Amino acid sequence: MNDELFNLIERLANLLRQETRLEGQSLGLQPVQQEALYFLSTCNRYSDTTLAVTEYLGLTKGTVSQSLKILESKSLILRVKDKKDKRITHLKVTKAGHDFLMKTCPPQKFTDAITGLSVDEALDTKMLLKKVLNNYQLATGRTAFGVCKHCKFNQKTSDGIVCGLTKEPLSSNDILLICREYVS
Ligand code: SF4
Repeated sequence: MNDELFNLIERLANLLRQETRLEGQSLGLQPVQQEALYFLSTCNRYSDTTLAVTEYLGLTKGTVSQSLKILESKSLILRVKDKKDKRITHLKVTKAGHDFLMKTCPPQKFTDAITGLSVDEALDTKMLLKKVLNNYQLATGRTAFGVCKHCKFNQKTSDGIVCGLTKEPLSSNDILLICREYVS
């Protein structure tokens, strides 16, 4: 049973990588560069740094730095100094980067495949995959990078939603992003 599940998920991941590679050819991007760009489009302001990309992708700092340089040279991301702490540099996805992701991520054929599921099947698949991911994250101890709205520091106050860790307000968009400080 475990082998079959593993094979299914591995095959899905493999197909996605192949399709992603094809989609990235239009800009001459490698999958790792596309993964870094996608991560930066989904993470919050505490996670859009070289260190966080390195942690998220589980690659060496050298590989990630090279990938980020290529994304920057193609004007898909830009570097912005933090307003409060000049030692921190944020990596922001540009309009060209967002446009590229809109066209390529997820790959069109993946969308076609999901469209073939009924609403209930799609919901059930999402719930099951989420459970597998949660369990796998717990088993590996790699529990960071969750969605902000599910974090234990996400607090509703009379002034709106606040991050209990940083004490900063969170917008309705912030709470949908992933965060390296996430704790379940
Ligand atoms: S509430 Fe949690 S996930 Fe959200 S910004 Fe704060 S630490 Fe990150």
